[in-house]
Amino acid sequence: MRKLLTAFILSAVLVMTMAFTALANENGASATASLSGNNANQGTLTITLTDGLGYEHVQVVQSPGNNTVVRGFEVSYGVYEVTVVISGNRISSAEITKSEVTDFCLRFGHTPGDEVIIDPTCDEDGRWEIRCEVCDELIEYGVIAALEHDFQFDSTVPFNVVLAANNFGPHAYTMGYDLYVCENCDETEQRNLVLTHEYTVDPNCSQQGYTATVILNEAGEVAWWGNAVYVDELGHDFQSIVWDGHGWFGSQCSRGCEGGWYISHDRCYFGHEETEIRQTATCTVGGWDQEVCIHCDEVIRDQVGWRGALGHDFNELYTVEATCTTGGYTRMECLRGCELPDSVAVQNWSPALGHDYVVVGDLSTTPWTLVRCSRCGDETHVANVVVSTTPSAWVRQVPGNTNFLNITVEEVFTSGALNSVVSEEIAIRNNASGTYNVGPYRVFVNTQGNDQIRQIWIEN
Ligand SMILES: [Zn+2]
Ligand SMILES: [Zn+2]
Ligand SMILES: [Zn+2]
Ligand SMILES: [Zn+2]
Ligand SMILES: [Zn+2]
Ligand SMILES: [Zn+2]
Repeated sequence: MRKLLTAFILSAVLVMTMAFTALANENGASATASLSGNNANQGTLTITLTDGLGYEHVQVVQSPGNNTVVRGFEVSYGVYEVTVVISGNRISSAEITKSEVTDFCLRFGHTPGDEVIIDPTCDEDGRWEIRCEVCDELIEYGVIAALEHDFQFDSTVPFNVVLAANNFGPHAYTMGYDLYVCENCDETEQRNLVLTHEYTVDPNCSQQGYTATVILNEAGEVAWWGNAVYVDELGHDFQSIVWDGHGWFGSQCSRGCEGGWYISHDRCYFGHEETEIRQTATCTVGGWDQEVCIHCDEVIRDQVGWRGALGHDFNELYTVEATCTTGGYTRMECLRGCELPDSVAVQNWSPALGHDYVVVGDLSTTPWTLVRCSRCGDETHVANVVVSTTPSAWVRQVPGNTNFLNITVEEVFTSGALNSVVSEEIAIRNNASGTYNVGPYRVFVNTQGNDQIRQIWIEN
């Protein structure tokens, strides 16, 4: 803001002095102007600027005339410009027409920012500081003392052995140690150094294994080493696999070593892959079991275990039923394929049934009669004979002491024919008993009462 000031005039003999004062502006400056002399063309214009820091700056203009005079002032923190208007040989106005601050902090002082902490490390002090928000100049600071290391156990690094590819080549060793890490600065320290180390290298397909001892110095250099306790190489562990469909078999070492690959037509070239236990014992003779290769039949192990005779593994082939004239039996086979002798193969023998002749029914009394087998129909003639005789008798009663006995012998023939042989009427006394001829038979008859038959049988 500019303010135009009221003028006042000081008069002196022969000297005319007129002064104007420009009030302080917002940058704290004020200015005065005075003109001395008899007229403006011969006078002296003096412009005095008091800057915002209270320093005075004076510029003198000789013979300014009735003009507008503009003068700039460069101060330590900025630029001012004062404009003085002279007319009628006097100052009619004076004002600060420009005030620019180029260095705020120099003019108004620094503006302190927040306190900033720079943490101390284990090696270096830290500090706190306050800087000007405007110009970043350091205003205040102090030292924060450096920390001390705070080593804590972190991990154990084992002794490490790096073998050359061939196991026996140059070795690289790194010592083992416990790793401690500073919690404050991450600096590390190795403690509890492990300098002596024994290690074992396993044998592989083609090289020995061994146990070695190495001793390092604290610089990690080899001070001594030596090998001991050698173990034989393993040899390849071939695994047969079918390589193609054309009879080639490939084998690769299961350990994946170089050179462990071959092919062959012979499936068992690399060893017998699958075996089974095979019996040499037969049904009738004992024998030792053998372990044999299922592919080439080679005996891998003999006499694995004794086995007694196996006994036949019977299976019924067929059964022949007995007939009237031939015996019946079951024919067995051995499932193990042996040739069985008949004495073993034929089992469950039963004899021929014999014909079951039945009279064909002629009911004749001829000397021969026809019979037929009920099972097989075989016919033959057999003697037609009396197969049973049954005597019977009755008494014909007449008055007096004598009655008449009648005897009949009933014959049954093989043919089934019946025939009655009848006696002549025989005179007997009451209650008589005796033996009488009836055809070819002699028949005993015991009577009782007048006409009852008490006992009767054929004696011959
Ligand atoms: Zn500043
Ligand atoms: Zn530390
Ligand atoms: Zn191998
Ligand atoms: Zn084989
Ligand atoms: Zn058998
Ligand atoms: Zn028959």
